[in-house]
Amino acid sequence: MKILLANPRGFCAGVNMAIQCLEECVRMFGDNIHVYHEIVHNKYVVERFTKLGVRFVDEVSDVPEGAILVYSAHGVSPAIRQQARDRKLQTIDATCPLVTKVHMEAIRYARQGYNIVLIGHEGHDEVVGTMGEAPESITLVDTPEDVEKLSFAPDAKLAYLTQTTLSVEEAGRLIAKLKERYPQIESPPKEDICYATTNRQHAVAQLTERADVVLVLGSQNSSNSQRLKEIAKSLGRPAYLIDGAGEIQEDWFTEDNNVLITAGASAPEVVVQEVVNYLKTTFNAELEEVVTREEHVTFPLPKELRQLQLSN
Ligand code: SF4
Repeated sequence: MKILLANPRGFCAGVNMAIQCLEECVRMFGDNIHVYHEIVHNKYVVERFTKLGVRFVDEVSDVPEGAILVYSAHGVSPAIRQQARDRKLQTIDATCPLVTKVHMEAIRYARQGYNIVLIGHEGHDEVVGTMGEAPESITLVDTPEDVEKLSFAPDAKLAYLTQTTLSVEEAGRLIAKLKERYPQIESPPKEDICYATTNRQHAVAQLTERADVVLVLGSQNSSNSQRLKEIAKSLGRPAYLIDGAGEIQEDWFTEDNNVLITAGASAPEVVVQEVVNYLKTTFNAELEEVVTREEHVTFPLPKELRQLQLSN
């Protein structure tokens, strides 16, 4: 067996920052930390912080008044920020700056009187947060049928935005369809699908042709991980999205298979290495890491946290 290990894979700059932020919060404030939703969509990461005493909540009302509340990497709507202010919570915003960029674009387009078509998955934390910035101005589309159903006037003042973790190819098809119906539609000044999503997808698209089976490390609720699995499947390979080696079934492979391993932006390297070791031990696999692009993006810790570090 041969393992093809995709690079780039796993943690992106936004996830790194959010996790470092929460680690620092735990170090500074102990176990009195609440996080609005999962800090990132990964089971391993959430379980690790839960063991350290961090509480993940779905409602701001579940956080005791005056406590510390961290916003996850996916961002939140203004309504959630207001609820946190009403409860006098000390908030630390670990929203990825690339998600904040989409929020800012939504606010700007709404102020300028545009109707915004947001391409994204209904109910995803990021989409809920972005839509909350201008609910009256944003219409969500997820499929070509949704685009067909849009009822704006042919000359309506329109702009589109996208979730950061979509399939580049699928989003491209929806954008083309939108432009066909509404040629005047404004594009965001800079691509909303983020560099990490794009790079991981390109790596999988490039390397899948050399593989018999594809393993994607990531959780089921991780949008960008799901897209990686879909890309491999669309190229005709069996692909499995797993949280760790414990979910592997031996009959997925044979001894002479090439197995491509990648990881979504929220999956830690430790689970990747667990799978690599499992395949090495069970199938005597050899390892080849293939770099398709270098990444050097980093984000600073949230401003509020840096100020607290200074005053501590
Ligand atoms: Fe930010 Fe992209 Fe990572 Fe999401 S996947 S946290 S948008 S860098």
